[in-house]
Formats: sequence, C-alpha cells, structure tokens
Amino acid sequence: MASEELSLVRLVDRRRFLGGAAVAAAAAIAWRPSLSSAQSGLLTGGGYPFTLGVASGDPLPTAVVLWTRLAPDPLNGGGMPNSDVPVDWVIATDEGLANVVASGTATAPAAFAHSVHVDATGLDPDTTYWYQFRADGLDSPVGRTRTAPPPGSSPASVRFGFASCQNYGSGYFTAHANLANEDLDVCFHLGDYIYEGAGGGVRSVPGGEATTLAGYRNRYALYRSDPDLQAVHRRFPWVVTWDDHEVENNYAADISEEGITGVAFLTRRAEAYQAWWEHQAVRMPPPVSADLPIYRNLTWGTLASFFVLDTRQYRSDQACGGATLAPLCAEALDPARTMLGAAQEQWIANGLTSSAALWNVVAQQVVMAYTPLVGQFNLDQWDGYPAARDRLLELFGRPEVRNPLVLTGDIHASGAGRLLADYDNPDTSAVVGHELVGTSVTSTFPGGLDDLFNQVTSGLPWVEYANASKRGYVTVELTADSGTANWRVVDTVTATTSAVQTDFTWDIPLGDSGGAVDNSGTPVVTAAPRFTG
Ligand code: FE
Ligand code: CA
Repeated sequence: MASEELSLVRLVDRRRFLGGAAVAAAAAIAWRPSLSSAQSGLLTGGGYPFTLGVASGDPLPTAVVLWTRLAPDPLNGGGMPNSDVPVDWVIATDEGLANVVASGTATAPAAFAHSVHVDATGLDPDTTYWYQFRADGLDSPVGRTRTAPPPGSSPASVRFGFASCQNYGSGYFTAHANLANEDLDVCFHLGDYIYEGAGGGVRSVPGGEATTLAGYRNRYALYRSDPDLQAVHRRFPWVVTWDDHEVENNYAADISEEGITGVAFLTRRAEAYQAWWEHQAVRMPPPVSADLPIYRNLTWGTLASFFVLDTRQYRSDQACGGATLAPLCAEALDPARTMLGAAQEQWIANGLTSSAALWNVVAQQVVMAYTPLVGQFNLDQWDGYPAARDRLLELFGRPEVRNPLVLTGDIHASGAGRLLADYDNPDTSAVVGHELVGTSVTSTFPGGLDDLFNQVTSGLPWVEYANASKRGYVTVELTADSGTANWRVVDTVTATTSAVQTDFTWDIPLGDSGGAVDNSGTPVVTAAPRFTG
C-alpha cells in the first residue's frame, strides 16, 4: 500500500474514532490497542520508531508543545526512509488516555530528521495532561505535562527544577533519575544539553567531535536514548535554552574557539542549531539560516515571569586573549562589549520593566556574580562582560522590577549568592537580585580544583554557598511570600543509580517592592551600579 493510501486509511480511522470531542470514549477504544498492529513497518522501515522517547515544553496557559522523533536506528542517522511520515497524537486528562481533549495528525518531515513538534492548543490552564504519539501503528511512551496558570491569576506557588551540563561520557544521568521523582510544575535546562567533543570516560561516546548536521543528530540521539533523560522529559514540561557545547566549546556568536569566522563556522553553527531544534520541544519555527532566536518569556500568572536568555549567539568574543581564567584587561572593560546583543538586551529591558510578576526569573547560562578567583576571572562568564552586566544589574535595581532571580548553569558547581549594585562595597551595596547556580548533571569540575574553588568563593561576602564537588540539580518553590531553593546532589555518577540528598537549602530573601533587598530581606535604597574591575 502506498503511503498516501495508508494515510488516507488512517485519516478515515481518525474521523471515525477521533472526529469529535463528544466521542472521547470511542477515541479511547480506538487509541489504546494499536501496538503490534499489522500496519507496523510500512512507514518506518520495520523498527520501533520511538527510541528517543517523548517530551513536552514551553507551557502556556492553554497550550504546550509535544515532541518526539522517529528514529528506529537512532545512533546511525535515524534509519528512516527519506520521506515525510504522518504521526498521530492525542492529549488527555488521564494517564490511561481515556479522556482525550485534543488530537491530530502531524508530519514528521524527513528534512528535519523526522522530528515532530505539535503545539497542542485549546487546553485548560493549570492542568496536568498526558499525551502519546502513534506512527506506523506503533505507540510511543506516554508523557505527562502541565499547562501554566491563567494570565493575571495569582497561583499559590510555582515549583520548578533546573539542570545543566550533562556530559554523557562523564557519567550516568543519576541526577535526572532523581529529578524525575520530584513534585514540580516545570523544569528548565540551562544548556550543555549535549557535548560536541570526542571521547567518553565513564560511558563511551561513539563518533568523533560533532561538526556536521549528521554528527550533531547522532549525538542528540545518543543522549535522548538515555533512560533517565527520557524519564525527566516524560515527567515534566521543559523550557530549554543552550550554552556553548550545543555547538562548540566557548564559541561566541560567529567566532569559533579556534578563531574560525565567517561561512566556515556559521555553516557549522547552522547545522548545530538545526539539530538542537529537531531534538527539543520548543515553540519556534524550524531554522532557515545560521540564526535562530530562542530567547523567550513564559509566565506563571502574576507570581513569576521567566525570561529565558541566549548568552552565546550574540555575544562579543571572549576578551583578553580568550583564556578562560585570566586577569581582567582593558579590552574586557570596553562598554561596547555585549553578552546578549542589542535586540535581546532591549527585549529583556522592556520585559522586566513592564513585568507584573512578583518574581522575575532569568534563566540563563553563565555565572553573573562578580567572582574573582585569586586575581583571575573566568572571562567566559559575565565577569568578562562587565559593562553588559552593569546594564542588566541597573535594570534589576529599578523599583518596578521586583525580585530578580537568576538561574545559572555552565560552571559545574553549585552556588547561591547576592547580585550587588556595587561589588567594591559589598557591606553597604544594594542587593539587586539573587543568583542560583546549579551544578552539572554529570560534567566534571576541572581536575582537582574543586576544593580551591569552594574555599575561594565561600570567602566572597556575597556568596552564601558554593560546592564544586557534587553533581545534581536544583529545585525551587516560589510563593507570594517566600522563595526556597534546594541544591539536590547525587552520591555518584559512575554507577547507574544513586541516592540523592539536599546539600543546601536557601530561603531567598523577598522584597515587597523593587529589586533591592538586603541580606535580611529588608529593602534598601538602590545605588547606581558601577563596576571598576
Ligand atoms: Fe558544561
Ligand atoms: Ca558551558
């Protein structure tokens, strides 16, 4: 049977069984028993196509993005025929998928690695749903997801997790296995979702350094094959941004780590961005060039507004020769240097100053707090972009911007700290926000330096907690009168399972107006931020 005829047959089936909301019971009968149907194999070459699991993301009050990718041979290009394939989907209010509230048939385009992005709309706010895909008569795993509260509402709380830096070769995703057991509304991934580099360690990583579309696809497929990563995606909607390793270590805009510029690097970046889009449940059109704007905002009623940033695509090149750890040089202090690019900087300025939210959460990549390390600075962080940081902290300090809360990844260390208007005078400076730094899922802190890092950073007066020695994730609960963060760390990433424990709990001081609260939560007058290096 030709695929057009087959999809026609399936369309007729769908009309018969899924044609209207009024026949939800019939839909349940039609949807459930399809595994091992005689249709299996006609469209997907005979293998089970849902080897990469399912995911959801970018939850809105009435919509959420559902994702999967058909890949019967995931580590070798996917193993699909070179044609588009129809994929049915349902979303229901129950785990058994009996009460289907929306359904349809999406296309898995061959041009985008047979990935499926469905924006399931018309949903109820603040509601838990379950969803499933079907292709070729075969069912995907069932995923659970959740919509955001209605616009303008005042939800009692938002509970979210965040994670970053999951080098597959560095270990097992025991952090994700434990994260999947948490009671959360939504999770954020702050980047280094994959590592492009060659070689493994605890686990082997096939292929060399990913530099092409095929290479990046196989790398995402390796990661998405991991059962613990699949579990966290089945369990929560995720809001995903990227850091450097989704393309290349420490790249900046159109400049590679090795200083390759122009078409050679932009071609690589375009292919890396495309593979990222293909493998994430994101609400954005497919990439058509080397540029892919991914910064975006999501709200949880008036309780929290989430600003998801991209600190890689638009940044100025790393200053002072590009070394990661170096003293600050004059180049770093150039006010023309940017971390976000002009458009994104204007976007967050508009967003923050017009935000109605009590908590303004900024989900981003690199450490924002001033972090001198024995006279040296990590110049890939905001420390290498001090003028850009000053501009953002000035916004944070404005009275109309309430309770800025920065989420940070990248550094493979846990941390909690205050963002100051004036780091030269930490005892008297206004506190303009708070920063929660999550440790890596697996990626290691540079060899043997974790004790030194813990010691040095713990001595900084604006740092409340630091621990570079443990892997894990962070959970946060925000309410109208409190904010609590828990740094959850695992015992090991070199075994397939691990216990988890809370390494530190922080009651984040909450100001009732303005971004500025002092150590004890008392609002303080905001001084003009400055940075003198
Ligand atoms: Fe990393
Ligand atoms: Ca990084």
